[in-house]
Amino acid sequence: MEKIYDIAIIGGGPSGMTAGIYAKRAGLDVIIFEKSTPGGAVASTFEVANFPSFLKVSGMELASKIFEQVSNLGIPFEFEEVNKIITDGEIKTVECFKKTFKARAVILALGASVKLLNIENERKFLGRGISYCATCDGNFFKEKTVALVGGGNTALEDVFYLSNIAKKVYLIHRRDELRADKILVSRLEGKENVEFVLNHTVTALSGNEHLEKIEVSSRLSNEKKMLDVDGLFVCIGRGPDTDIVVGDLKRNEAGYIITDENMKTNLDGVFAVGDIRNTQLRQIITACADGAIASTKVFEYLKTKEKSK
Ligand SMILES: Cc1cc2nc3c(=O)[nH]c(=O)nc-3n(C[C@H](O)[C@H](O)[C@H](O)COP(=O)(O)OP(=O)(O)OC[C@H]3O[C@@H](n4cnc5c(N)ncnc54)[C@H](O)[C@@H]3O)c2cc1C
Repeated sequence: MEKIYDIAIIGGGPSGMTAGIYAKRAGLDVIIFEKSTPGGAVASTFEVANFPSFLKVSGMELASKIFEQVSNLGIPFEFEEVNKIITDGEIKTVECFKKTFKARAVILALGASVKLLNIENERKFLGRGISYCATCDGNFFKEKTVALVGGGNTALEDVFYLSNIAKKVYLIHRRDELRADKILVSRLEGKENVEFVLNHTVTALSGNEHLEKIEVSSRLSNEKKMLDVDGLFVCIGRGPDTDIVVGDLKRNEAGYIITDENMKTNLDGVFAVGDIRNTQLRQIITACADGAIASTKVFEYLKTKEKSK
């Protein structure tokens, strides 16, 4: 007979692995699917300095520690990309390229991916001057000069945050007008250490071990100039990828999955956690908290289903 797991967790980042730990410790039969490295976005983060219990820890080390805990509990970890999740009915189907799995409940922990500039040296300087998260890495640039690319609300909030830490912040945007709310724009206009570089795009990155200079090009005249910076924050968008879910899953305008405070989606037996859902803050600690809540609620959900049989 085909095995049916209690929970299938899709995504082995902090939210998915924490959900796994809580599920296993509650006695549930759980499996985690991960298409890449355990730890998700954390595994590629240079340094984490805002996770309680570590003064500073490399992202890879933190990711490995969570994975070690998952492994010690004997939780099956399938290194497979899930390409379809069929959510209707009592039993859900998780399809990978070569195998299919069944589970009574699904936790979606797929995260969200950042949009890259897609220019040369971007990967080389990742964690060496380039960051995609001002809240996470802003503090490494105390009294330094940084630039931020973007023009939406998140970008401007991040510039405001950075302007209270860094000596100088360049705000680079490709249009002559910022997309962000006027109130956010005017809050920055009063800041002496913020310089707007509008109608420009970042076209080159240079430095030795660390990012030192960025080249910006005018979209009006094609003229180029160099800016000396210690850091560059890229904030041109980030989005969830929920296409693998078959079913009428409720999402907000930006595509993030809508859940209630118990991490339940509108689909029966389908929960969502971490960066993929419409949350107030996308950080490791909130992702882990979501995972813990979701597994606790899946436990209750499965008990209720059993009783109603
Ligand atoms: C550059 C950077 C630096 C950061 N620094 C910090 C920091 O210092 N402190 C902090 O608290 N937060 C930081 N964050 C935010 C933090 O990393 C995220 O909030 C957190 O990782 C979200 O966890 P998650 O489990 O929801 O998603 P993720 O960590 O994104 O994990 C999702 C996982 O799902 C997997 N997956 C996706 N699709 C599939 C599929 N179809 N099949 C199988 N697996 C799949 C992915 O491979 C990934 O491993 C940073 C983020 C970035 C991008």
